[in-house]
Amino acid sequence: MKKYDLLVVGAGLFGLTISQRAAEEGYSPLVIDKRNHIGGNAYSYFDRDTGIEIHKYGAHLFHTKSEKVWKYVNRFSSFTSYRHHVFALHEGRIYPMPINLGTINQYYSSAMSPEQAKKLVESKTEGALKDAKSLEERAVALIGRDLYEAFIRDYTYKQWQTDPRDLTASIFTRLPIRFNYDASYFTDPYQGQPKEGFCSLFGSMIQDPKIEVRLECDYFEDSSVPKDLPTVYTGPIDRYFGYRCGVLGWRTIDFKEKRYDLESFQGCPVLNKSDMTDPSTRSIEFKAFNPERKEVFESKKTVVWDEYSRFAGKDDEPYYPIGTRKDKDMLAGYEAMAKEEKKVVFGGRLGEYAYYNMDQTIASALEIFEKKVLPMLRNGKK
Ligand code: FAD
Ligand code: UDP
Repeated sequence: MKKYDLLVVGAGLFGLTISQRAAEEGYSPLVIDKRNHIGGNAYSYFDRDTGIEIHKYGAHLFHTKSEKVWKYVNRFSSFTSYRHHVFALHEGRIYPMPINLGTINQYYSSAMSPEQAKKLVESKTEGALKDAKSLEERAVALIGRDLYEAFIRDYTYKQWQTDPRDLTASIFTRLPIRFNYDASYFTDPYQGQPKEGFCSLFGSMIQDPKIEVRLECDYFEDSSVPKDLPTVYTGPIDRYFGYRCGVLGWRTIDFKEKRYDLESFQGCPVLNKSDMTDPSTRSIEFKAFNPERKEVFESKKTVVWDEYSRFAGKDDEPYYPIGTRKDKDMLAGYEAMAKEEKKVVFGGRLGEYAYYNMDQTIASALEIFEKKVLPMLRNGKK
């Protein structure tokens, strides 16, 4: 019988990074996933009919500030020079997002300079930023009521199905306002998409023959899973402990696919829908993430997914942790139980109930591997 040193539950980016590092250090990990593919939520496939790379669980764009993470992913794939741009549809007009001088001038039908725009926006703000508790207070303190109501209020309501006055201010830190014409969505120095697609990147991460992958294998339901091994668990933390402190809240997304015999449907990769009149939050035109694949990009076929956000039921894919007070109390209970599990390390988005971007997931896995997994493996070898 084959001997494994480590069980990794979940073949998402966290589990793949742990497995890659374990094999590199000479250990033999068994990676299991209940899905029929590796890559977790960042998984993508090439559509048979069009050749377009489709991101099965929603659009994924790679970007990072971390040189360490960038060097790490570049060991397994080269990256394109893709830079992300988003537009927003509000009352029948298209605006650049995030809000920049172009958005502001277009919205006020003006030709203001950066200083003039700053003054105008400041005159529309209400309350001090430091006192802002809710998302609405923070947004209005930052960008003024007009822009908030046009581009943020309804989009946020659709995304969270919660009044922005009841949402925590921290959700709004990720969307800047710029008083210049820079319309790039991310400011990170390292950006790009894996040249051969996300799956090729994930496949190369686990090339080492010491790594064994078992798909369609649920940790809780498959009796062949060797549960006595040192384990890295990246599934939902509440599920691991039998929901003893309650069910953590998540949001999920429904996708509605449309296919067109057109070179391009919307002319940009992501179109946010800022108004309540359209129930979807945004539309993704996948081919636009890969303009370098000329044959596919210029073909007269395109695939667009409209996204609809809603609260996740127990059987839905968990996408965004909600993080209400009740969730935080539950999580504290689970974290206390996790500390007692000496042979199990919890990590990743589901294992920590945290919203991590891909680069943060990798950075966290690299760190946890050094600090917790490697010592556990070395102990096991004694
Ligand atoms: P996951 O990818 O969720 O992997 C966990 C794996 O564990 C899954 O494959 C699951 O099937 C498996 N599993 C769970 N329970 C069990 C069980 N009982 N037995 C066996 N296997 C189990 N990041 C970016 O950097 N850029 C983006 O543009 C971006 N866009 C995103 C868009 C959406 C809609 C979402 C939801 C996320 C986005 N992210 C983005 C974040 C990115 O998806 C995560 O950072 C990353 O996927 C987290 O990896 P993970 O391994 O922690 O979790
Ligand atoms: N947001 C908004 N309008 C937009 C884009 C974003 O109101 O056109 C707000 C919304 O509250 C959202 C938050 O900004 O939850 C974060 O946006 P981002 O695009 O970073 O969210 P993601 O989809 O990556 O979670």
